[in-house]
Amino acid sequence: MYLARHMPCLFLENIYAKGPKIAFMSRKTKLIVTLGPATQTPEMIGKLIDGGVNVIRLNMSHAKHEWAAEMTKIVRQESGKRDAHIAVLFDLTGPSIRTGDLDKAYELKEGDKVEFRRADAEASIPLSTTVNYPGLMEDVRAGNTLVVDNGALLMRIDRVGDDRIICDVRTPGLLGSRRHINLPGVRLNLPALTEKDHHDLALAVECGADYIAGSFVRDAAHVLELREAMEALEGEAQIVAKIEDQEAIRNIDAIIKISDVIMIARGDLGIEVEFEELPILQRRIVKRCHELGTRVIVATQLLESMITNPTPTRAEVTDVMNAAYEEADSLMLSGETSVGRYPERCVEAIVRIASRIERSGGHGFGQNVILRDERQKTARAAVTLADSLADARLVVLTRRGVLANHVALMRPRTGAFYAFTPKETVCRQLAMTRGVRAFRMSFSSSIEETIKRSTEHLRKLHLVQTGTPIVIVSDILSDHFAANSILLHHA
Ligand code: PGA
Ligand code: MN
Repeated sequence: MYLARHMPCLFLENIYAKGPKIAFMSRKTKLIVTLGPATQTPEMIGKLIDGGVNVIRLNMSHAKHEWAAEMTKIVRQESGKRDAHIAVLFDLTGPSIRTGDLDKAYELKEGDKVEFRRADAEASIPLSTTVNYPGLMEDVRAGNTLVVDNGALLMRIDRVGDDRIICDVRTPGLLGSRRHINLPGVRLNLPALTEKDHHDLALAVECGADYIAGSFVRDAAHVLELREAMEALEGEAQIVAKIEDQEAIRNIDAIIKISDVIMIARGDLGIEVEFEELPILQRRIVKRCHELGTRVIVATQLLESMITNPTPTRAEVTDVMNAAYEEADSLMLSGETSVGRYPERCVEAIVRIASRIERSGGHGFGQNVILRDERQKTARAAVTLADSLADARLVVLTRRGVLANHVALMRPRTGAFYAFTPKETVCRQLAMTRGVRAFRMSFSSSIEETIKRSTEHLRKLHLVQTGTPIVIVSDILSDHFAANSILLHHA
């Protein structure tokens, strides 16, 4: 009885200190959801946006072109209605290895021998299928592990021929058509982009994608190739590099430096490394992205059980909370929202869990940012100032979004953080950035006027009150405002 009466003082007081509503509104962790059959209507997309989604992902491994174009249109319409800046992410398939077509799935037993052969080779044993990567035989060796269908089947390579490999089945299961193959630890000489990727990339540019993700990038050159191919088509998207295997981990610094955003693609990465390594890698990559100044997404299986269940498992709650605590920029849902039964409840779950941990604090990797230039040092100074004032707001005036990303990277603890920019595309490219809410506003040639407009806008939305301290940071040039300025102002 004694304890029960005192529990609220210890715990609940804290929980309700600010009120759940305010916490909801100022959520810092951004949310990416994947569209699919469960979420392809304007009504549902509208509901997801209302629920707090920031970025919509189209997975080109499954999406048809017509469908992807239609979805982009709906997202633009629904966000337009709400004056929300929702970004669209096209996720390219990348060079994945897949098995061939089978008339009927093979039922494999432990000890069975299975053959994977080049498309032009004849079967030499009864259990045989083709594989879409002709270079496979050069990259692998006998003894390598082959993981089929996301871990549903494990095999060991027994023999490597010129145009085929023969494997021993280690765990029983079904081998269907076009199943994905992973080869943990094997360095593959796959190209960065396939023909299909080039085709999908052209569509992404045509649709005005805000982000384009490259799958299975293994080094910085792959990211560069994607960026150059996108720029050759005159696209303006930002590039997301998906970290999915050990080779990418070895080259992680170079990949982080050259990418706009890193995605910790735990689906494939969790197969390519021993599973106990995965949480350690996640934490290291999140930390390194903070240090080197690149945004980071934690993706895959965050709420996997909610594909069929209305509530998350305890482990999932803890996983989501951990990623938000690490202060990743964005969390991503895949099957949960593309084919799951409870897409809206998944969004609600992420919002609730992230909002809750944010009130308790975060890991603080933002303290370790390696400040490279004056702009980043200005961002640091502005954040330090804002965090030292009671209930201050941060306002960034930014043309290309670069300064807003720098400020976000320092992970300000202050109440809220707003970016004003004249460009709609910049607003959308800040959709993935932790903590910032972007507004589109034209800049005046007079900086006083620009500042007045921005604070009036915040007042109108009741985001500041008379007297609220506002730290304004800007690198825009104007008559009397030098580059890299910080201004403390009261609403
Ligand atoms: P995918 O990438 O969903 O395209 O496979 C994400 C992952 O592997 O985690
Ligand atoms: Mn993947």
